[in-house]
Amino acid sequence: MDDKPKPNGGEQWIEERFWDYFATRFKIKKVLFSGKSPYQKVDVLETEGHGRMLLNDGLVMITERDEFVYHEMIVHVPLFVHPEPRRVLVIGGGDGGTVREVLRHKTVDRCVLVEIDDMVVDACRQFIPQTASCLDDPRVTVTIGDGVEFVAKTQEKFDVVIVDSTDPIGPATPLFGPEFYGNVKKTLTDKGIVVSQGESAFYAGDTQKALLRILAGLFDRVNLYNYTNMSYPGGLWSFTFASRGLRPVWDLEPERVQKSGLDFQYYSADVHRGAFAIPAFMRKNLAEFLSEV
Ligand code: SAM
Repeated sequence: MDDKPKPNGGEQWIEERFWDYFATRFKIKKVLFSGKSPYQKVDVLETEGHGRMLLNDGLVMITERDEFVYHEMIVHVPLFVHPEPRRVLVIGGGDGGTVREVLRHKTVDRCVLVEIDDMVVDACRQFIPQTASCLDDPRVTVTIGDGVEFVAKTQEKFDVVIVDSTDPIGPATPLFGPEFYGNVKKTLTDKGIVVSQGESAFYAGDTQKALLRILAGLFDRVNLYNYTNMSYPGGLWSFTFASRGLRPVWDLEPERVQKSGLDFQYYSADVHRGAFAIPAFMRKNLAEFLSEV
């Protein structure tokens, strides 16, 4: 995306470019917030068809219209596989959408969010309450800091760690590295699970492979699951799932989903199971690292 939204026949559109040969465009009504933090450019736009949108360095992070897909899938998959998730660590995710979904689980009594950029948190608190208003919940601790340093230093243990990060550029680069995941493993309880933003199968197959290689070197079980998101380039995106033993499909009890009484917009026990069915082109790239589901 260029720095400023461009007029186009009297209209304003914002463009996200991917690898300089593919782009997605959104029609915008107005710029609600624009700032530059020590880490990145942060914009909140009012769009024509997708509600409010957060962009970091010109990359779409969330839109109000479809953020539920990403946030339900990054959260409910690990939290329904873990038998009793009580403590959850979210790294990145300053928009609050992931924390909002975590808090819907009654077993959770503590959720720590570690976001490096307070400008993201403040802008979302002010302009995107749909995701950020949950950050005031008493079960939540918001820590402004580097997730890499946090997991290296913390003595606290978590049942589930969720890495809700941007693409591997700038401060998010080490969130895709071996040292970080070695420390994540140390912070996990015996039945711990870590789920991470796992990039695009079409446009970042090499990143997916590199991340799975790291996880497979550290964890007993490693898998990947897919979701579709209109706002992200290519539509088909993934999360990685790694655990100290739990299996993402075998250990899911569909009755628990039913009994939770939670009303989802995308997630269900069927969607959960289906998401682990990996298309052939992805399987060819990643098969050597994937555990049985
Ligand atoms: N759904 C999003 C996506 O993939 O497009 C991710 C959303 S969330 C806004 C990602 C956040 O990760 C950003 O706000 C960014 O500041 C944060 N982040 C990047 N590197 C980080 C680090 N090392 N520690 C903590 N947070 C980090």
